[in-house]
Amino acid sequence: MTQSPAPAFSHSRLAGAALGAMCGDALGMPVEGWSHQDIERQYGRLDAFLEGRLEAGSYTDDSQMMIAILETLAQRGTLDPAYLAARFLALYEPRRGYGGRVDSIMQQLARGAPWDQVATDSWGNGGAMRVGVLGVYFAHDDQACCAAALRQCAITHTHARGLAGAAAQALSVALAARLGAAAKQPYCASLVNHVASLVEPIDSHTASRLRALPRIPRGDESQARRVLTSEYACDVSAPESLPPAIGAFLAAASPEQAIVLAVSLGGDTDTIGAMTGALAGAYWGLEAIPPAWLDRLENQEAGRDHVLRLCRDICGENG
Ligand SMILES: [Mg+2]
Repeated sequence: MTQSPAPAFSHSRLAGAALGAMCGDALGMPVEGWSHQDIERQYGRLDAFLEGRLEAGSYTDDSQMMIAILETLAQRGTLDPAYLAARFLALYEPRRGYGGRVDSIMQQLARGAPWDQVATDSWGNGGAMRVGVLGVYFAHDDQACCAAALRQCAITHTHARGLAGAAAQALSVALAARLGAAAKQPYCASLVNHVASLVEPIDSHTASRLRALPRIPRGDESQARRVLTSEYACDVSAPESLPPAIGAFLAAASPEQAIVLAVSLGGDTDTIGAMTGALAGAYWGLEAIPPAWLDRLENQEAGRDHVLRLCRDICGENG
């Protein structure tokens, strides 16, 4: 932690959240759907980008949809859902591994259906996996943060658990950005109580799964993995994947450790990695993300440098 950490809404924290999410997504991509035991057996400590169904360092649907959110903020200065739905469609590449429900949503958007008439009642983590950057953008206004998180989620997910997961992730990232800016440690009980109380009116089940997050000592990866995988399914559902993503952030001493731990939990590894990466990047800032990972992130037309430029545009004077 530097003497004068960047403010909660800053280029360092926004780009940290964005590229942290991309690193988690890319690290988790090759082992998506694996058990934590299989990951450990095959790779030991998985801490380098590997080839999977995409090239090493590639991002998946999680980051592609996050980039659409960044483009919306850069172009519109707010979370305009009609514009965002158009960007989801413009960037959409099925090879990134979208769920079947999202594929059909994209087909409807391509046929001209309005953004607010294509969602399904999914309680998956699709609304949460892409939303971290909004937490930094609205780091100083929890109400606006929550409203924007719900609005972007509603394009694809209308189930209360999907919506609550998106709100909880955005609010957790907002708090992480504020704590990082104040050079304060994040603590499990205060983070969970703050976020759970705000999402309780949206979905009480999500709030209770957040409150089930155990306190884990910082820095012990194997104990954290044991505790988190015994409490949560770490699957594609929002309430079983967001709390362990938060747990991995809270149990870590650096973005590298947070993201490695998140992916090591198994299950929906790319998304859990992306959610933890957004939290860690918002808290520690861009400079704390391992340069070796940033160097190896994919960097074609809509890759790493495009994301950095978008973050710079969005922050403007705040950069
Ligand atoms: Mg994915």
